[in-house]
Amino acid sequence: MSQADLSIPFRRRAGRAMEDAFLQEALTIATTKFIGLRREAFDAFPEGEGLRDRAREIKEATLQHLDRYLEQLIGNVERFGGRVHFATTAAEARAVILEIGRRAGARMAVKSKSMATEEIHLNEALEEAGIVPVETDLGEYIIQLAHERPSHIIAPAIHKTKGQIADLFGKELKRTVPADPEALTQLARGELREKFLQADLGITGANFAVADTGTVVLVTNEGNGRMVTSLPRVHVAVMGVEKVVPSMSDLMVFLAILAKSATGQKLSVYTTLVQGPRRAGELEGPEEFHLVLLDNGRVDQLAGPLREALYCLRCGACLNVCPVYRQIGGHAYGHTYPGPIGILLTAMLNGPASVKELAHASSLCGACADACPVRIDIPRMLIELRRQVDEKRIAPWIERVVFESFGWLLARPLLYGLAGRIARVLQRPFVRDGAIRSLPLFGDWTRTRDLPAVASRTFRERWNELERETPR
Ligand code: SF4
Repeated sequence: MSQADLSIPFRRRAGRAMEDAFLQEALTIATTKFIGLRREAFDAFPEGEGLRDRAREIKEATLQHLDRYLEQLIGNVERFGGRVHFATTAAEARAVILEIGRRAGARMAVKSKSMATEEIHLNEALEEAGIVPVETDLGEYIIQLAHERPSHIIAPAIHKTKGQIADLFGKELKRTVPADPEALTQLARGELREKFLQADLGITGANFAVADTGTVVLVTNEGNGRMVTSLPRVHVAVMGVEKVVPSMSDLMVFLAILAKSATGQKLSVYTTLVQGPRRAGELEGPEEFHLVLLDNGRVDQLAGPLREALYCLRCGACLNVCPVYRQIGGHAYGHTYPGPIGILLTAMLNGPASVKELAHASSLCGACADACPVRIDIPRMLIELRRQVDEKRIAPWIERVVFESFGWLLARPLLYGLAGRIARVLQRPFVRDGAIRSLPLFGDWTRTRDLPAVASRTFRERWNELERETPR
């Protein structure tokens, strides 16, 4: 499955993904590898747990004074000759970038490392404006050739096998290449080299921006990020407002845990620090540097129930360990950001109605919170989202009726006790070996798991018995 059609219910999208043998193979190999590498990296790094706590504290402290840090960042970027633009919505961000491109007379834009530009659907807008966007991260390049969208935050082509990529290159680049990672990379590298030299515009995201130095930080593994930030005449960095960090020493805390969480590396291969455009006497760098600060629903959540999702470093660790993501991959989620954190980010960007199905695409097992370098409590916020979906009456009616009735019953102990006794009688025809294997009206629930039978003696009955038996 390449593109999610949101008119198809999530259940069907997920079902199709689970029937796709290539996807299942690719997902199992990649996520298992990432999980192992992350575990090894933290096992060999005793300071890791303490730094995760510290990173979380820094994120929270930064959000509490976000306005102050953003002002400081803006002042410092401008001091170095850069220009800062604030975009409240995705449309505003697109308009700002297109205007920069138009003024630069850009015909081609090379891009690197930016989920934020995926979020604002920038490529389509660039194409419409006559500016050819060229993705230069290998994974992004692959999915651009395939006319797809990323299926993982840090590994956008995670859903593709080597063989599929070799076939794709053969079809799109008219070159025969073996299904060998090195050969595939060499071919892509050759194709992309010319584009770096031709492009007038370089567009990147930003992993962090340091407020007290005005530095935009990019963490990459392929080296293309440096080409994008230094070869074209104009560099535009697009980042969510929550990516600001107060100081370089805070940045070090995040760098120490980010790559370990993402790929198990001690550090990513390249950490690029950008401080404004090329200055007098410098040989390299762009003539113009623009930083686009993107709100797009984030600021509202500073005081909202999804506030903690603003801590996210986009490392992808929660996707790799999520039992749902590992089965269905990223496209079935249907939005820019997949996986457990993706559900929260989608709700943040598009409102709770956009995740009325996805809010339930989690077993709430807590693996995501355990893996998260900043310990974001994703399960708690997913439950909160479910509550919102219910409160706003956008959940399916049957779900609302069942849970409202159950809630009503739980609040009335006598009736609850009576209902338990009635259920014990009514369930008899369906119980085998202490479990209900199938139940009318609950067919979907019992198709893949057993419903525990109501106990022959409830806890309250046993408690009352114990009280009677125990001498005072
Ligand atoms: S929620 Fe945590 S684990 Fe998931 S991508 Fe964000 S930082 Fe990484």
